[in-house]
Amino acid sequence: MLDVEVRCVRCRYDLRGCRIFRACPECGLPAISSVSAHADPGISELSHPSDPGSAAAAVAAIAAAPLVAVLLQGSGPAMRQVDALAGRGSSFPSQVERPAWLVASVALAVAAAVAARGLSEARNPELAASLGRGRTVRLLAALGAWSAVLAAAFVASLTPLGDAQSFPLVALAAQVLPSALALTWLSPVLARVGALSRNYREARHGQQSADLVTITLVACLGLWVTLPAIRGAVGDDWALVAWALAAFLAVITVLGLAYLAANGWVIARSLRRPRIDPRRLR
Ligand SMILES: [Zn+2]
Repeated sequence: MLDVEVRCVRCRYDLRGCRIFRACPECGLPAISSVSAHADPGISELSHPSDPGSAAAAVAAIAAAPLVAVLLQGSGPAMRQVDALAGRGSSFPSQVERPAWLVASVALAVAAAVAARGLSEARNPELAASLGRGRTVRLLAALGAWSAVLAAAFVASLTPLGDAQSFPLVALAAQVLPSALALTWLSPVLARVGALSRNYREARHGQQSADLVTITLVACLGLWVTLPAIRGAVGDDWALVAWALAAFLAVITVLGLAYLAANGWVIARSLRRPRIDPRRLR
């Protein structure tokens, strides 16, 4: 128990009364890090997961998985759209779109498995304790549900159900909830892992972009799914406006997801290779 004033080196919280092997109640940095940083400024802001490799893989996987899932599914329709606008025949056969659901499903399942391993009590007890079971389980459940929806869509596409014209729209609509939940629950996990890593700033950016991209993703999917209804209700001109807006939202969403993946990569790297910040040695 600390019975003198010790400021947390990250957030300046007064750690008096805090147990030395516990985390700072404000930002999650272990109290021992602040104590040792005051003794030797060089060791401050070191991140020290027990198994840095698996922790880094977990962060990289969960930050990149949504981008991979969206790109895999979106590239086929996007290229067909470009072909249509250019007045060419289709250069991208539509038969590859449905297997893309299966590949995206596998990618999400792999990311969930990598995250489950890296954030587990057995591999990284301090990371797991700081995250709390709830945060990790919620994120893994959402990624698993998203993966399951895609797998189900692929299987259904092999049956007569898949011949229905509206089938791809149904497959898209079914993903709205699990994808939004995955992004929503990714945000606190990134913030938490960032609090333990050197790259708190990148983690905050990652968290913010996850929050923002959830909104653009839901808006974009919602607009695509309701496009036929919009066309029926208000005619082709307004449907074209809605289409342009949906396309714009799709671009913003992909950029947001790419930014999120890049932030995840930076956090992952700092978890794997903790180093002393040279500015702190002066
Ligand atoms: Zn703190």
